[in-house]
Amino acid sequence: MSKANLKIAVVGAGLGGSTAAALLQRQGFDTTLYEQAPAFGRVGAAIHLGPNLVKVLRILGLEQKFLNTSVAMKNWVSRKWDTGETLLDYEVDGENRFGAHYLQAHRGDFHAAVTGAVDPETVVFNKKLVGYELKDGKPLLTFEDGSTATPDIVIGADGVNSKLRTILAGAPKPVFMKQVAHRSIFPTELLGKLGDQETGLYTKWWGEKGEHRMVNHYFFTPDRKEFFVYTSTPRETWDFEGSSAPADIEGILHAFDGAHPDLVQVVKAMPPERSSMWSQFICEPLEKWTHGPIAMLGDAVHPMPPYLGQGAAMAVEDGAMLARCIGAFPDDIDHAFRVYEANRIARTAKVQYTARNHDIWLRDFADPDWIFGYDAWDGPLEKAVA
Ligand SMILES: Cc1cc2nc3c(=O)[nH]c(=O)nc-3n(C[C@H](O)[C@H](O)[C@H](O)COP(=O)(O)OP(=O)(O)OC[C@H]3O[C@@H](n4cnc5c(N)ncnc54)[C@H](O)[C@@H]3O)c2cc1C
Repeated sequence: MSKANLKIAVVGAGLGGSTAAALLQRQGFDTTLYEQAPAFGRVGAAIHLGPNLVKVLRILGLEQKFLNTSVAMKNWVSRKWDTGETLLDYEVDGENRFGAHYLQAHRGDFHAAVTGAVDPETVVFNKKLVGYELKDGKPLLTFEDGSTATPDIVIGADGVNSKLRTILAGAPKPVFMKQVAHRSIFPTELLGKLGDQETGLYTKWWGEKGEHRMVNHYFFTPDRKEFFVYTSTPRETWDFEGSSAPADIEGILHAFDGAHPDLVQVVKAMPPERSSMWSQFICEPLEKWTHGPIAMLGDAVHPMPPYLGQGAAMAVEDGAMLARCIGAFPDDIDHAFRVYEANRIARTAKVQYTARNHDIWLRDFADPDWIFGYDAWDGPLEKAVA
């Protein structure tokens, strides 16, 4: 089918789906974005925009906006949770080393910018996908409001609780990894002065090797009026509806009993009403992301704990790569999907593995080239596996 006639439906207007839709539209594809929510909101807290992600922002024309409104990371500082010993002080120098800055921003602002790159006339809200089938060789999407759509291609970008993932035979469900994250944004004056380090440094406090205990903090706007703290602590069960719940600050302090005074000060500054707790999921890597005319991306196929700050980056890279492959092979979508899989599955499996075993990465040595150096849009393309 020629490019002009191909109708593409993207299900899920999150970070990956919006990236794919924007880049498909730029190449002239008739693309509609279906989102279950009634509108976009400023959801989430601070987020890492690693150089690999910023390269996609550049293609979307959004890089300068984020250079003006976010914070470029200078050094990545790793410290030991109890003694405060500096394990690593890595000068990131993203632009020179990896071809783009490493930025810290608000996830909501980032999401707004990426969705803003999609033609607003093509974003349809209140469209919760409830069913999918192949009818006369064409996908039939059914939404909760009873409406349907019959595109030629479907991009499944419906996040960690994906409905569309079930079409991939044998796809396991993500499981709770007995760890919770806390995220908090609060006015910087609540923090006070930290004892033995400059407050503005990007800092990650590490538990013992092999643990997932950590505390991470940084600024994400140039005016430094707000401070962001992220923690990861063990928790046996997740008894809450949905993936977030009220904060348990005492639980964090308990998990870090005996910690360095600066770490304790940071956690104690987290106002419970400005903090929230999140369950963390893992999933074994999938061997196939496509099925007939449907291709999946993002958290739907590779959910990962956020220890590397690469979950969003992988969804955005997927979106860019999928749009690139469809653009390169519009007359042979089956081939486009195989090239997409060849370029994404092994990479994201390695990132998932590293996120799961996160103390092998930037704890006490630096080897980030393979993640940050990647360029989903202009980098070399792997061939499809025969
Ligand atoms: C605590 C925490 C901190 C994080 N920090 C970072 C970080 O620093 N750096 C980083 O890179 N990543 C981070 N992440 C991860 C990041 O937010 C996700 O990995 C990323 O949003 C995944 O993008 P996605 O497009 O796959 O899914 P999402 O962005 O979740 O989008 C899915 C979309 O699909 C919609 N949807 C779902 N079901 C349906 C349906 N049935 N029909 C229609 N629409 C549907 C949803 O409403 C949503 O809009 C963090 C996550 C957490 C929990």
